[in-house]
Amino acid sequence: MDPRFGISREDFRRAIEEAGDAWATAADKNLFQYDEKGKLGINLVYDTRQEITQRVITIRAGIVARMKEADSIEAKLTPLQDDFRTRQGSYADQLASYRQALGSYNQKVKNSNIMGGAPEVEFQRLAEERLSLKKQNNLLEAKRLELNRSADEINVLVKKHNAFLVQANTAARALNRTGSAGVEFEEGRYIRAGGEERVDVFQFEDRKNLLVILSHELGHALGMKHNPNPSSIMSPLNHTDQLVLTAEDVDGLRTVCSLQ
Ligand SMILES: [Zn+2]
Repeated sequence: MDPRFGISREDFRRAIEEAGDAWATAADKNLFQYDEKGKLGINLVYDTRQEITQRVITIRAGIVARMKEADSIEAKLTPLQDDFRTRQGSYADQLASYRQALGSYNQKVKNSNIMGGAPEVEFQRLAEERLSLKKQNNLLEAKRLELNRSADEINVLVKKHNAFLVQANTAARALNRTGSAGVEFEEGRYIRAGGEERVDVFQFEDRKNLLVILSHELGHALGMKHNPNPSSIMSPLNHTDQLVLTAEDVDGLRTVCSLQ
């Protein structure tokens, strides 16, 4: 057992038992018995195959993590952007009516100047109007600054969001460069030569995958050959990630175990 596989001896043993049980249950017989000195050795052999597999797993996890970050930023961004658009719209409306009021005030001042000054009452009214316009202007300016701050905040989030997407893309390209995405390695092998019998496992992605590989090799140890159903445990290419025997697997088992 090479420790670089990152699986404990106990977990490995449990996986082997589970993989053997799949056949034993179908045969309704005790087919495998664990024994420290048993003649069928089962090894975890570490080489570039598992090294590349682990690199791929790490890169994939990195891509998933960055996409998650991007999604969580997007979840924050969407309501902020909606709110910003609403406030921007209301600001634009208020600005337009302010400008209209200012235009009308200026016109009144101009008219009264032509008349050589306004009467006292009218003068008072214009002064009040001017004050009210000034207040509106201050309010609008405060709103404008607030909108600018929101826009800055949104831009920071947009930049962060994009950065995560760029990182995810870079990782995806790195994954393609490893040249292993889609390449099939030999995951395990059953060997019987010169009085020695053993199973070597070279590569697995996760526990489910390990169970399928182990039961495939244990099937060989029982004397079973490959069958053409791609969903089979005994398919020559490992495509299934479920430890479930197909009818072809069970037929093969019946033949080697002389079951009815
Ligand atoms: Zn095989």
